[in-house]
Amino acid sequence: MEKKDRAHMAHVLVLPFPVQGHIYPMLQFAKRLASKGLKVTVATPIYAPMSMHIGSGLLKVEHILAGQDVLAKKENSDFLANGSGTLTKLVEKHEGSSDPFCCLVYDIILPWALDVAKQLGLYGASFSTQSCAVDAIYYHMSKGHLTLPLEATTISLPGFPDLRISDLPSFISEPKSHPRILEIVLNQFSNLEKADLILVNTLDKLEDEVVRWMEGLLPVMMIGPTLPSLYLDNLIEGDNSYNIDLSNPNSDLCKKWLDERPTASVVYVSFGSVANLEADQMEELAYGLKEGNNNFLWVVRESEHNKLPSKFVEETIEKGLVVTWCPQLEVLAHKAVGCFLTHCGWNSTLEALSLGVPMVAMPQWTDQPTNAKYIEDVWGVGLRVKMGEKGVVRRKEMKDCIREVMEGERGKEIRMNANKWREFAKEALAEGGSSNNNIEEFVAKVSVFKASHSLL
Ligand code: UDP
Repeated sequence: MEKKDRAHMAHVLVLPFPVQGHIYPMLQFAKRLASKGLKVTVATPIYAPMSMHIGSGLLKVEHILAGQDVLAKKENSDFLANGSGTLTKLVEKHEGSSDPFCCLVYDIILPWALDVAKQLGLYGASFSTQSCAVDAIYYHMSKGHLTLPLEATTISLPGFPDLRISDLPSFISEPKSHPRILEIVLNQFSNLEKADLILVNTLDKLEDEVVRWMEGLLPVMMIGPTLPSLYLDNLIEGDNSYNIDLSNPNSDLCKKWLDERPTASVVYVSFGSVANLEADQMEELAYGLKEGNNNFLWVVRESEHNKLPSKFVEETIEKGLVVTWCPQLEVLAHKAVGCFLTHCGWNSTLEALSLGVPMVAMPQWTDQPTNAKYIEDVWGVGLRVKMGEKGVVRRKEMKDCIREVMEGERGKEIRMNANKWREFAKEALAEGGSSNNNIEEFVAKVSVFKASHSLL
């Protein structure tokens, strides 16, 4: 067999941490690899097995049992702490087959997976589902460049604008809030020097300075944004969604409702799949939307519904639609949507940037405050609401920010910037674009690795 043919058969195993915000980007990356001729298997406890041909490549989803504890949110999740046994078994199961794995792409928050990859002689690439900036902040902390408690009011880090404490990830700005998660995010650097490559779901231009700084230290490569191809380059036929939605989106209802609304008249509001608002915050938001000038489409997950003011849905029926889940990409891409009131989850941020939607940033926890800082001050694509008394953002503040983004002078500038970033995002994944080139380089590296190991 020709070396070239063998190279094309490189089989990559992709191992995401099994929650929505991590699976989506890694599954999308897997599709990109398949579209460039690789065979890719995504291992997850969530999806049923499936397989699809993409271009000359193949994408398979393999169901693994381990990890279900994580979904059930049990404290002692085996998978998060150590899924080595499950991963080893999976790799070994394929050992004797015609297409053993030659590379593992693992979620950066599962560092034990890299140890397994190295023990079993695989090419090991970690994958970060957060911004490069957030990775860099955690890196500084893990190396002791940032120590708790933070004493300075302004934090200066290489490649960053000045940061206030409230711009840092919440696990650092409020270290007592989730000490276990802080430990996990710092632990991702424990063996990272062994990784052959570190893939980050962002694009070079978006985080220019911090990317350059990271490149001086670690073999990082920006491969995003990982939206379905239809929304960016349209190079992968049929890649028009994340494929499997873990919740039930009210797609027809949302589309019909948006179709009936004027262009750029709707505020789309969502806090993602995890964040829970306090009851008083929910009430302020509800009244902010009710009293505001705009139509609104608000995703209130089932578990949050009891926090809505009574009769809210009935009383706002003329201007508002409340759904438990929506097809977010379709909504953001709809011409009726004029702004996105967002919790600034990294996927939502990249989606809004890629679709040119101005934002009102209302970060809740984890990496969201840092994303909000970039949205407002670095990319200029939105405004961040200010916290009021008792840590609650007041309705007037929300109304003012929405009005400014939708109708004000700053809104004009924000829309211009949003359009600019949309073009950059599309460019990055198009032929010859930075992320596309990086993905091709990754494929080449894996293929060379496969070929050289097949010759051993
Ligand atoms: N999402 C969706 N429908 C909704 C709300 C969210 O499809 O009604 C998707 C959204 O497009 C994004 C993901 O859920 O891909 C949320 O990820 P993000 O990182 O923004 O936030 P998280 O849920 O992890 O806090």
